[in-house]
Amino acid sequence: MRFSRRQFVLGTLAGLAAPALVPQSALAADKLSVVATTGMIADAVRRIGGAAVEVRGLMGPGVDPHGYRQTRTDIVAMTRADIVFWHGLYLEAQMEGFFHKLEKRGSVIAVTDQLPRDLLRGHDDYDDKFDPHVWMDPNLWVLVADRVRDALIEKRPENREMFEANAAAFTEELRVLAGYADRTLATVNPESRVLLTAHDAFGYFGEAYDFEVLGIQGISTESEAGLNRISMLVDMLVTRKISAVFVESSVSDRSMRAVIEGAAAKGHDVKIGGELFSDAMGAEGTYEGTYVGMIDHNVTVIASALGGEAPARGLNGRLSAGS
Ligand code: ZN
Repeated sequence: MRFSRRQFVLGTLAGLAAPALVPQSALAADKLSVVATTGMIADAVRRIGGAAVEVRGLMGPGVDPHGYRQTRTDIVAMTRADIVFWHGLYLEAQMEGFFHKLEKRGSVIAVTDQLPRDLLRGHDDYDDKFDPHVWMDPNLWVLVADRVRDALIEKRPENREMFEANAAAFTEELRVLAGYADRTLATVNPESRVLLTAHDAFGYFGEAYDFEVLGIQGISTESEAGLNRISMLVDMLVTRKISAVFVESSVSDRSMRAVIEGAAAKGHDVKIGGELFSDAMGAEGTYEGTYVGMIDHNVTVIASALGGEAPARGLNGRLSAGS
């Protein structure tokens, strides 16, 4: 920070004396205007784009991307943006058609479009589609960060060095996060590694950390769970003596309450192990409202609730108390 004052003075002089010589892209006002659908994508763009981008995230905390439809304001923002990032893999099911139209007009990028297909999970809900919840594995999210970095460089090559440095720092944080998840989840006994959540968002998590993952609803939240599914899950909890299940911040907990009541009626007590961030991050301005904080929260809550060992405030000591 030693040189900041001098840089400020020089910058001011340059601005006053020779505005015509300052390249447009160097001006603070000339930020790339970016729209991102999910909070997780917006977070990656902010981290990598730094001061060169102005990011608008469409889906805030608690918003379910499977059912989200673009508003009038969203459409205006997206048509004016320099780049629009969406997730793809049929996550934004209601907006898919809109994006295919929009991509004819310019830089519209599905951040998962270049992920090697052999790293993706298929699923039973749709034959020809993949499980979109790739952010649940920080090592896969590194590849998404690469895609965001490359798209920003392509749009604004003069900021290449900054985008590369920011992406490298972010990637390093994601690797540390993945290491924390490995270590922490390994403390849960193998027979307790069952994750019952509101919908099937944790498939990549289960694969990465060796958990059996069950959702009351399927891969999408678009269809309600049937009574058969609920009674099957109740029996499973009772026979396998599973003591904790998890609700999600972006999905109603109604079906989960039915499962817990069903188990109680059979004399088996199940507690809610905590609220997980599945398809949306925590409150804006909080640690849980960042991608790293979101995953740290999930890992820490799951490990603690299922009998493993995790620091109360998580990887960085920043989780809110009681989270
Ligand atoms: Zn989902």
